[in-house]
Amino acid sequence: MRRFELAVVGAGPAGLAAAIEAGSAGVRTVVIDENLKPGGQLFKQIHKFFGSSEHQAGTRGFEIGRRMLSTLSDTGVEVWLDSQVYGLFPGWTLAVNRGDRHEKVQADRVLLATGASENSIPFPGWTLPGVMGAGAAQTMINVHRVLPGSDVVMVGSGNVGLIVSYQLLQAGANVVAVVEAAPKIGGYGVHASKLRRAGVPIYRSHTVLRATGPGRVAEVTIGMLDESWRPVSGSERTFRADTICLAVGLTPLAELAWMAGCEFIHNSRLGGFIPVHNREMETTTAGLFVAGDITGVEEASSAMEEGRLAGLAAASSLGRIGRAEAESRMQRVWDRLCQLREGPFGVHRRQAKDDILRKFEVRAGDCATSEKPAAGKECAG
Ligand SMILES: Cc1cc2nc3c(=O)[nH]c(=O)nc-3n(C[C@H](O)[C@H](O)[C@H](O)COP(=O)(O)OP(=O)(O)OC[C@H]3O[C@@H](n4cnc5c(N)ncnc54)[C@H](O)[C@@H]3O)c2cc1C
Repeated sequence: MRRFELAVVGAGPAGLAAAIEAGSAGVRTVVIDENLKPGGQLFKQIHKFFGSSEHQAGTRGFEIGRRMLSTLSDTGVEVWLDSQVYGLFPGWTLAVNRGDRHEKVQADRVLLATGASENSIPFPGWTLPGVMGAGAAQTMINVHRVLPGSDVVMVGSGNVGLIVSYQLLQAGANVVAVVEAAPKIGGYGVHASKLRRAGVPIYRSHTVLRATGPGRVAEVTIGMLDESWRPVSGSERTFRADTICLAVGLTPLAELAWMAGCEFIHNSRLGGFIPVHNREMETTTAGLFVAGDITGVEEASSAMEEGRLAGLAAASSLGRIGRAEAESRMQRVWDRLCQLREGPFGVHRRQAKDDILRKFEVRAGDCATSEKPAAGKECAG
């Protein structure tokens, strides 16, 4: 059995940011990821990020990933790839499926940065070959350089649906239509405009009604929805298409937190059940931290900031960074996180995140399971 001070599950932006902070402070850290390459979602993101220069706006996601890996390589942190954590037991012991063997890891602190999984919707024909998650299509084109199909219907107009549609066009596919059940487009206007300029129609208040074969998707029928989201008869349109991509939301991947006995809160804005945590990203199970999409689906920039918080908090709890220094550094991270949670898109996430912190505070006041209940300044306003 290998022993570490900190085990980080997930090598996406949250896990890497945490490992950089902890490793730089001298914490003996291992990062474990099931993929053959570290970086999580970052290496699929060939587009330039938004936001401020502090959040590397204008830089492509995979470049941010490369920089993080290069910084991490100077810290002495071990990175285990092709390794899936399938068990987490108090104490902490992690059960890891590492390549073709099983291994146990003992750690003083654990950070879960496992990200999120794609949602699906059922409709007649949804099990036909050719129906897939938009994230899966993005992995095919941007990581494996394989086109999933030639004529694609995208279901969902959030940022994932819009961005992946554009990347499918760049990869040489024809995006026949983007279909959105809500009356408004879900993602940023700039992404929708790029698609429209490329001639892709976006059907709002529409959904996919069925896909038909034979053998794999050959035709896709969509229809309009009324205010009660019921199909309007006579509004059906059928397209010739061999691929349907579903971009209908993400759900935090929190099985290991359930296994560890964490308390959860449900928040539909953040994707479902979220492990309750404090502003230092520690869950209701002392010594277990969370960061990134597992704490509610946001974006890579906030995942990195949360990872930094968790890395600093873990390093401080292990005595590797003095409390005062850790608090002042965490406050600076919080200031940047608050900037990310402003504006029409960010404000709802901020409110949802505040609910989680409040739940931790109420609980900590009731039964004081964590040595350090949430305290300090969250986002103002
Ligand atoms: C199409 C698309 C476009 C996006 N565009 C942007 C953008 O422009 N700007 C932005 O800021 N954000 C963007 N995002 C969002 C961003 O990618 C995510 O919010 C971010 O990657 C979350 O980081 P994370 O570290 O929490 O999770 P992830 O990046 O998903 O990493 C989690 C890692 O953990 C691994 N893992 C999970 N469970 C286990 C286990 N049991 N054992 C071992 N490994 C495990 C996963 O395989 C994965 O590698 C986009 C997302 C998508 C899908």
